[in-house]
Amino acid sequence: MHIPVRICYTKAIAAMIWAAWEKGGKDLSLWHNFWGHLGTVSHHRALVFVHCCRAGIPWQGLWHDFSKFSPVEFWAGVRYYQGDHSPNEEERRHNGYSAAWLHHKGRNRHHLEYWIDYSAGGPEPLAGVRMPPRFVAEMICDRIAASKTYRGSDYTDRDPWDYYERSKGHYMLHPETRAQMEKAFILLRDEGEDALFQYVRSELLHK
Ligand SMILES: [Zn+2]
Repeated sequence: MHIPVRICYTKAIAAMIWAAWEKGGKDLSLWHNFWGHLGTVSHHRALVFVHCCRAGIPWQGLWHDFSKFSPVEFWAGVRYYQGDHSPNEEERRHNGYSAAWLHHKGRNRHHLEYWIDYSAGGPEPLAGVRMPPRFVAEMICDRIAASKTYRGSDYTDRDPWDYYERSKGHYMLHPETRAQMEKAFILLRDEGEDALFQYVRSELLHK
């Protein structure tokens, strides 16, 4: 069990050295990227943790996105660090796909993409499975944190809804999960965070 993990780290370090070499000696930017990416991940996890505490799921908040510290996700984050948008997009542009994202969404149950499966007799070959409520709650906490980071001082309670509305056309979601998500973001938009977390705790999680 230990050997593959060590090989994985060795490969990651070799990839970093190669990336530095490729950049023609601008290896300082890799150092800058390392701290930049670590800062982004830590800041995001801290924000999600605060939201998860308010939603009544502190343990999930503590472990949220922990796979981002695995070699495949972390070193891609460093190598393709952008500062203003996701390194996954950059990795995708570079390689045609993002290995970091494929690793991430396959292990983190707060992502709707984790719950896509072959449909059991539905009209489409693939379909969104009903997400357990505690992961719907974590997804909501995650999206609010992402909106806050992305919008900075311009953030308002309607931003998570606006983002959802722009993207909902391509989301593969179970109708019940979709309804829960929409209700949460409409509540946040119209009545604020207190009302949202009250809904998550009492109606969604029955706490
Ligand atoms: Zn995640």
